[in-house]
Amino acid sequence: MKIPKKTNRYCPYCNKKTEQKVKIISTGGKRGTLTRGSISRAKSRGLGRGIGNKGRWGSKPAVSKFKRKTKTTKKTNIMYTCTECKKSKYHKKGQRAGKVKQK
Ligand SMILES: [Zn+2]
Repeated sequence: MKIPKKTNRYCPYCNKKTEQKVKIISTGGKRGTLTRGSISRAKSRGLGRGIGNKGRWGSKPAVSKFKRKTKTTKKTNIMYTCTECKKSKYHKKGQRAGKVKQK
């Protein structure tokens, strides 16, 4: 999928159509990183440190079948920045695509 670097788009701050810069931002942060039972939480608590085999706190935990990744594409998140008022607007709804490039 190819995305232009600049587009004419409605700016809710200027209340008119303006030229806006298009920027691809990473598709969301990691959710629930410090939930109960997560490895990152256990590591921050001090578990799984030291030498030797760390078992379930090791670098490569056993991945059960239902946890395996099935999706091969990601939805793109886009940030539009108005060139007139310099304000940015986040656009979340993206199309699924393997690779996203800016023209
Ligand atoms: Zn604007």
